[in-house]
Amino acid sequence: MQSKSKILLIYTGGTIGMMKDFETGALKAFNFSKLLQRIPELKQLDCEIETISFDNPIDSSNISPEMWNLIATMIEENYLTYDGFVVLHGSDTMSYSASALSFMLENLAKPIVFTGSQLPIGDLRTDAKENLITAIQIASLQAKNKPVIQEVCLYFEYKLYRGNRTTKINAEHFNAFTSPNYPALAESGVHLKIEKGLFLKKKSSKDLLVHKNLDNNVFVLKLFPGINEAVMNAIIHIPNLKGIVLETYGAGNAPTEDWFLNALREAVNKGIHIVNVTQCSGGSVNMGQYETSTALKTIGIISGKDITTEAAITKLMYLLAQNVSQNTFKTIFETSLRGELS
Ligand code: ASP
Repeated sequence: MQSKSKILLIYTGGTIGMMKDFETGALKAFNFSKLLQRIPELKQLDCEIETISFDNPIDSSNISPEMWNLIATMIEENYLTYDGFVVLHGSDTMSYSASALSFMLENLAKPIVFTGSQLPIGDLRTDAKENLITAIQIASLQAKNKPVIQEVCLYFEYKLYRGNRTTKINAEHFNAFTSPNYPALAESGVHLKIEKGLFLKKKSSKDLLVHKNLDNNVFVLKLFPGINEAVMNAIIHIPNLKGIVLETYGAGNAPTEDWFLNALREAVNKGIHIVNVTQCSGGSVNMGQYETSTALKTIGIISGKDITTEAAITKLMYLLAQNVSQNTFKTIFETSLRGELS
């Protein structure tokens, strides 16, 4: 007989649990226990739910690698006791956090489902209830007493995505996220339609390994017509800088002016890892397809392929703290570690 799934709900903050400050009119985080009182429906779910919360819930604009560590530690300490984890998180940086956690949790064999909402749970028109209830249902799915999902996901507005493939695209619509280069893993309609073939295949049966070191000596540089030499030079001379996510045009294209390429060459020669990702909301970098990207390839710029900026910057933080040798860094970055690139 299948036992009831045990789910740990981790509350970090975000609009889902916010209330209006009547003096300023701004939304701010409030106590988690009140959040649960507002969703009595949770008791009807066929699983056991326990909760744990940040001492001081945050607006997710204040998330940091230290707090990713806190979430990872909460999961690590409770990993054997629970069948799945639902992380309630502000939507603004949810894609960064889901990406970071996907790299930090190696050999994951249980679901970690991030969710949140665009309107607070107390709001009459809230999207919080559906998001939360379905996220819990998804996290409790089992087949032959094993969790069906074994990766870090993000559930929002009827769709379940691989977390490190997502990006927030809208601050107004309930449909706030998209996964530009990888299809949804599940869709919730009258039935929950699960696309099993899209799930991450577990590579080994090793125990969960939690990587808590992240190196945030990194930078995201979005190219724009008019970027000048002084700006480029200032960036590549940031003390201790170890990695740059370079957001280029189209299929990975960039200016071919000497001062620009020389700055990149100098950075790479100093040991700074530069990852080429596209500014486009979909598609892939393909260095060498156009003349405007051939030099980038020669210089040794890493291809981010179809990775999102959120996954690229967190993968950099993760790999930079892993003591990967200078020679193999590029190859490892260009390899899919958690399904983050094709
Ligand atoms: N500012 C909020 C946050 O990210 C927005 C949200 O929760 O949707 O914490």
